[in-house]
Amino acid sequence: MNILRIHGLPVLLDRPQGKGMVVSCYADTSVVEGFEPRWGPPLQQEAREVRKRLADDPESIQEFERQLKLIRESLKSGDHGGVRGMAVFCRSDWDRVIAIESDVAYPNRLVVDEEAYLVPFLIEELERPRYLAILTDSHRGRIYEARSGSARLLDELEEDVPRKNRSAGERWGKQQATIARHREECILHYFKDLVHRVEEVWDEPTHQGIILLGEHEILENFRAELPERLAHKIVAEIPHAWAGEQPAIEDQVGQVASEIVLVERKKILADLDRRLQKGGAVTTGPQEVIQALANGQVQALVFGPDLGEAGWRCDQCRSLFTTEERACPYCKSTCERVDLWQEILARALNHQVEVHYIPADSGLRVPGEIAALLLREEPQWT
Ligand SMILES: [Zn+2]
Repeated sequence: MNILRIHGLPVLLDRPQGKGMVVSCYADTSVVEGFEPRWGPPLQQEAREVRKRLADDPESIQEFERQLKLIRESLKSGDHGGVRGMAVFCRSDWDRVIAIESDVAYPNRLVVDEEAYLVPFLIEELERPRYLAILTDSHRGRIYEARSGSARLLDELEEDVPRKNRSAGERWGKQQATIARHREECILHYFKDLVHRVEEVWDEPTHQGIILLGEHEILENFRAELPERLAHKIVAEIPHAWAGEQPAIEDQVGQVASEIVLVERKKILADLDRRLQKGGAVTTGPQEVIQALANGQVQALVFGPDLGEAGWRCDQCRSLFTTEERACPYCKSTCERVDLWQEILARALNHQVEVHYIPADSGLRVPGEIAALLLREEPQWT
């Protein structure tokens, strides 16, 4: 659960070889009336600032312009339904960009650095994890991508299934049994098609789980048709009667996703609390968490909001420190200032560690602002 693996993320966490330049761009691509996109003027202004800063380095300016051109092209192509924000990344050693679309607008921003600036993107993905929501009855289904407060229809299908024969009438015995069997076969066929569609859109790196909506009995039958790897990912089953046009279903699915996220957050904090009381298999605070990550002890990482704190990272052995270090205490190499929050998160993601994010407005708090559940049940110092 909540293992954040996003397409392209491992590449983004990676640094370019040598002294390369990475341009990270966040944009509000929501549709406006008129010709100028929302991101136009603010990004032009940011680009002017960058050119000013690089004024005595024509080579860097040339490289910046090359990447900026690719980024602008990508932003223009992202101007379509449901996409309100885009995070676009480019690097000196790339002739393409990695662009990630979002259903919320990002504040416009252009960052030029030696590595990708991922904080706004990571917060957005962690704050609003993506689920697949499947709404089905016995002959029609819809598949949504659900996030807190919103849902997007990905696919839908409807098949011919004969109605249940409720009238006793003159059809008795064998004939009625044949009709009932035919109906069951049609439903099974429909379920198999729905499963096939789900498999097509299910994207393990991106989706955190599956939410089922429908009547319990039907969902039980549908569940039985799901392959194990998908059945395993079901996080909730929500009773839902399919009646009428269902105009507000997107809102409802988005609401369900919000509730699931909240339940998950409370569950992980309760686990953390239980371990803190018992005094085992848990650690809190940035430096302790960094150590536990380096030792490969972390089972799950729980983050509060980014407080914008700096960290110092050795450019040789990559050791990370929460207090200023000019020379690495281990290998004596130079340390550089980094974004502590992004750096810890990047390490957790590189180690494929489960990550939970507790936003400031959730009313919940992470002990020590950052904490880790450890793999071993005994305390860290034993
Ligand atoms: Zn070092």
